Amino acid sequence: MKVKDVLSSLGFFDHFTEKRTCKKCGTEENYAILRANNMICPHCNTYMRMTAEERIGLVVDADTFKETDAGLESGNPIDFPDYAIKLKRAKKATSQNEAVMCGTAKIGGNKCAVFAMDSTFMMGSMGSIVGEKITRLFEKAITENLPVIGFTTSGGARMQEGIFSLMQMAKISGAVKRHSDAGNLYITVLTDPTTGGVTASFAMQGDILISEPKALIGFAGQRVIEQTTGEKLPKGFQRAEFMLEHGFIDMIEERGRLKYTLTTLLNIHCKKKKNTDERSRMKNAE
Ligand SMILES: [Zn+2]
Repeated sequence: MKVKDVLSSLGFFDHFTEKRTCKKCGTEENYAILRANNMICPHCNTYMRMTAEERIGLVVDADTFKETDAGLESGNPIDFPDYAIKLKRAKKATSQNEAVMCGTAKIGGNKCAVFAMDSTFMMGSMGSIVGEKITRLFEKAITENLPVIGFTTSGGARMQEGIFSLMQMAKISGAVKRHSDAGNLYITVLTDPTTGGVTASFAMQGDILISEPKALIGFAGQRVIEQTTGEKLPKGFQRAEFMLEHGFIDMIEERGRLKYTLTTLLNIHCKKKKNTDERSRMKNAE
């Protein structure tokens, strides 16, 4: 067997031969080129959706990410028909056990807790394990005094888990509050699409809300709102730019500058926190 064949059997060339199609302009592009371009279509500048792994790879310092709770898997708490089959399919397609990846890492040298939701796993829907993993991450961040950086993308609550899915909103919100009360920073990066129960809870509870350009951010779908209110919605409704104009988010940042922006915010915060700690030490010494 030649070296080339061995490397090929190990998947070495997959990145070079794998292709993705841009949903906006329909152009097929090499995956390696897209990765190098932060998964932005080089032909029409469209932000393509990213997996949790790609998201984390975009912002954390090389070789610093340590995943937590990767082995947690969902059951079928309300015996929803075909849920087990759907879960199995999603696991196989993504090589992940759930729709969120959590862990600790460094961003620009600052240690932090990170979570990234994954829209390729059952549309990033929030089931009991997504809730449990994010809650545990916040609890770890409280114990270790770490800021949390969270990337959200979700179709909302996971209907196959009924009330157990909805309960995650309150559970995560409680952990976010305890993390905040301990004086820690929480930054959310809203990505396309962030909707439903995720928007209605932890996606919007960050101290600083950053969004990617043109990301869809909302609770209910536009058609549902129009039918319920009987009114025509304004142009650009629920897009990041509209949300910024109306004060729902703090800033829109391009993918290529995101790591720089997060590092700057973490530098400011960590310095401030250090000063506050020093001040309280001096006060105690007086
Ligand atoms: Zn394109």
